[in-house]
Amino acid sequence: MNLNFNYELPTSNVREKIINEIANEYSFVKCDTLSKSLCLRKIDYIKLGNMSEVILFAGAFHGMEWLTSLLLLHFIKSICYSINYNKPISDIHISRFLKKRGLIVVPCVNPDGVEISLTGSQSAKKYKDLVELISNGNTNDWQANARGVDINHNFNADWHNLHMLEQKSGILGPSKTRYGGAFPESEPETRAITKLCRSINVKHAVAFHSQGEEIYWEYGINTPKKSKLMAQIMAASSGYTMSEPEGLAVGGGFKDWFIQKLKRPAFTIEIGSGKNPLPLSDLKDIYNKLEETLVLNLIM
Ligand SMILES: [Zn+2]
Repeated sequence: MNLNFNYELPTSNVREKIINEIANEYSFVKCDTLSKSLCLRKIDYIKLGNMSEVILFAGAFHGMEWLTSLLLLHFIKSICYSINYNKPISDIHISRFLKKRGLIVVPCVNPDGVEISLTGSQSAKKYKDLVELISNGNTNDWQANARGVDINHNFNADWHNLHMLEQKSGILGPSKTRYGGAFPESEPETRAITKLCRSINVKHAVAFHSQGEEIYWEYGINTPKKSKLMAQIMAASSGYTMSEPEGLAVGGGFKDWFIQKLKRPAFTIEIGSGKNPLPLSDLKDIYNKLEETLVLNLIM
């Protein structure tokens, strides 16, 4: 397997091809499906190492932020390569750490949203008319799932407050972005990831979004003390900035839910800089800037 960055746009077929390559080449990796999206696309996960205690990485909660799914797939490929050939990754021999604590990666939490952003409204199947109506035919910047619910506004963390804020800013129903749904965890994509977190021992979780080169680490009184130090380490290794969310970016998100309900550290990393959707050609630089941060997450 090569580790170059010559990827195609990460449609569900392309992601599946990459995941199958990883599974076929490296027997120590397990790949499976967590659940299915509204349009019955698979929400895949990849795991390696000791599953009694794991770190969770999840990407592509938002449709046009599909580059995050490739970042995570490339990271898995790089880790597998380093284990298989007994080579360090970012100067660290990771396999001995993975024997104590494993890694689960969900490269794409919102496969319908990614497909809509990449290939247009027809990929929303029975929701095609709704997507066309909401998007006025331009789905390039689609963020939500197939029925216009923003997965990262659908988690049960001060959801009702966020819902009121959404309504105040004129978001009253299905939308390309920022509509939190009829009630918390109303969407199968949201439930896929909360169910996973409730069923295994996740020490900490990192959600990947784009863009801004920022790290969010705090959510209310349940934020663990060590979260700040962990964010400082991530900021120092990546050059990204530690940030605090404002307004409609407060509550309802995966990281918020994880901190509030599980009382363990969770982070949002906004990868890259520029205008979403970030182009494929940005992946190499983004990866090179973040590899050490990703590796450090597995050992801290
Ligand atoms: Zn996002």
